[in-house]
Amino acid sequence: MAYHFDPVGIVHSCFHEKFAIPRQPSLAPAARGILELLPPYDQPEATAGLEGVSHLWLLFVFHAASSGPQHLRVRPPRLGGNQRIGVFASRSTHRPNPIGQSVVRLDAVEQGKLLISGIDLLDGTPVLDIKPYLPYADSLPHAHNAMADTAPQLISVAWKPVAWQAAREHAQRLQQPVIELIEQCLAQDPKPAYQQPQPEREYGVRFWDLNVRWHYPHAGCIQIVSIELQSIATA
Ligand code: SAM
Repeated sequence: MAYHFDPVGIVHSCFHEKFAIPRQPSLAPAARGILELLPPYDQPEATAGLEGVSHLWLLFVFHAASSGPQHLRVRPPRLGGNQRIGVFASRSTHRPNPIGQSVVRLDAVEQGKLLISGIDLLDGTPVLDIKPYLPYADSLPHAHNAMADTAPQLISVAWKPVAWQAAREHAQRLQQPVIELIEQCLAQDPKPAYQQPQPEREYGVRFWDLNVRWHYPHAGCIQIVSIELQSIATA
């Protein structure tokens, strides 16, 4: 039996590539986006009542996940990228049906738009459904997961003064918490766990319209070296 689902909305996100997106929501509260609702759900009737709701469940499509043969086991980055577990024991993007679920903060409701934050969603993510978070049912303080009981360990993030100054100026221009976004995302250490980077190797990612570049001066520490406007042609 096959089912067909049409998106109810599309996420416009600060994240323009998969690299350096936090692996779960809430890890970067400064990660913001707009969920644009598609007709007929862009009408106020569809969002009536959301004024009293702080968080939402989003069910979405991993539209940019590479497709390939279906595997029963996956290698989650959380376990270092070389230990395999069953696909149903993981939150991998490579799944039988490429459906993701994230709890995000609902910051504001506007006509046809939901302003959201704490997201782990790529720009352009199609959203299949939106549901209010129910604290009494969805928060389970005694639940456990032996493989991922706590949030990932953070590493320290430092700035070159010129990068810090540029980030401040772009934060002003964009009216977004750019410094917090960069610090919260890079503190998760986006590079694959098995890589031992040389201090001269630079990494880069696009947040909003900015090319953020950093290196690892020594193990367990990131230094942001530059923040530059990324032209659409090179994005
Ligand atoms: N919270 C969701 C879940 O548990 O279903 C997503 C978890 S998944 C491990 C999070 C990663 O998915 C992000 O770090 C990002 O690299 C990737 N991602 C986010 N949006 C995506 C999209 N639309 N298509 C493909 N990959 C995406």
